[in-house]
Amino acid sequence: MKITKVKLGRISVPLRTPFKTALRTVSSVEDVIVELHTDTGAIGYGEAPPTGAVTGHTTGAILGALEDHLAKTVRGREVTDLEPLLQDVQRCVHGNSSAKAAVDMAIWDLYGQNYGIPVHKLLGSGRNQLITDITISVNDPETMASDAISAVSRGYDCLKMKVGVDPLLDVARLKAVRTAVGNHITIRIDANQAWTPKEAVRILNQMQEQGLDIELVEQPVKAADLEGLKYVTDRSYVPVLADEAVFSPEDAMTILKTRAADLLNIKLMKCGGIYNALKIASAAEVYGVECMIGCMLEAKIAVNAAVHLACAKNIITKIDLDGPVLCREDPILGGSVFDEKIITVSDDPGLGIRGIEDGRITYLWETT
Ligand code: MG
Repeated sequence: MKITKVKLGRISVPLRTPFKTALRTVSSVEDVIVELHTDTGAIGYGEAPPTGAVTGHTTGAILGALEDHLAKTVRGREVTDLEPLLQDVQRCVHGNSSAKAAVDMAIWDLYGQNYGIPVHKLLGSGRNQLITDITISVNDPETMASDAISAVSRGYDCLKMKVGVDPLLDVARLKAVRTAVGNHITIRIDANQAWTPKEAVRILNQMQEQGLDIELVEQPVKAADLEGLKYVTDRSYVPVLADEAVFSPEDAMTILKTRAADLLNIKLMKCGGIYNALKIASAAEVYGVECMIGCMLEAKIAVNAAVHLACAKNIITKIDLDGPVLCREDPILGGSVFDEKIITVSDDPGLGIRGIEDGRITYLWETT
């Protein structure tokens, strides 16, 4: 199976409600779509969301990396020559892990299609269902409490609360939500780099002293501040999960070796796709450090690829793949089924994506 053409496009999917974190507010998902066409007629699908505020990868940067480097690298290549192909995807351009992730997943999709096997089974899958949390945007305490109650009524038993916009209000926000949903619901929080190390320790320990029972905190301090991250990890009762601090497998090794965090968040857009995500998962296994699988605000093609990976890796114990359920509609055909908290992986060959609804993709460019 040879890759004969690369096509790039864009889709826009409105969110049910605006998504607010300490870093940004977003009202729709605007993703770049990659199609790898082959001499057998099979098409591999990939997707990358522009998340300039988090990764630095804007739409223009993703398209530029794809057009100038990645498309040239994969066109004319044999899909069955998998490892060299995936390695060249990582090497052909510096940075832009989002563009690389889109191409990486499309290659895995084709490889699975070529052999008639779903990717999660190629990777050694032991499970076919995942239970995801759902994100509650940062707002005033009353709005967060009512958003939390509505999520619980939709069946969610794990809530991820965005905090960090105003540190003084964070404890009040959490208290409002805990009181509203009761003690049987798991609450994890994500500060998206908003706190100083000392502030983080004070707020987290205050939360635990007040019996708020926080499962974990994501990225309490600046991404680059690994010493600060370790400071919090060493002093907080609440387990610390590194997110913005861990992009590449090399980042993961640094955090694992220094014990700067208790847990790692793997996202395909940060690490450059399934190939590198497998390295992070393996390193975490060696250190006995559990991982979360996360996503950006992404439509279903990219989140579906993360589902295949997570089904195959037991070290991934925390599932934060709520991108598709935050969307008001789903223009992607096939792939995993997202039924509120229950995600059932597709057993169709490859990643199981059959296409995109007519008229939903705006094609922008293709190789000549
Ligand atoms: Mg996070």
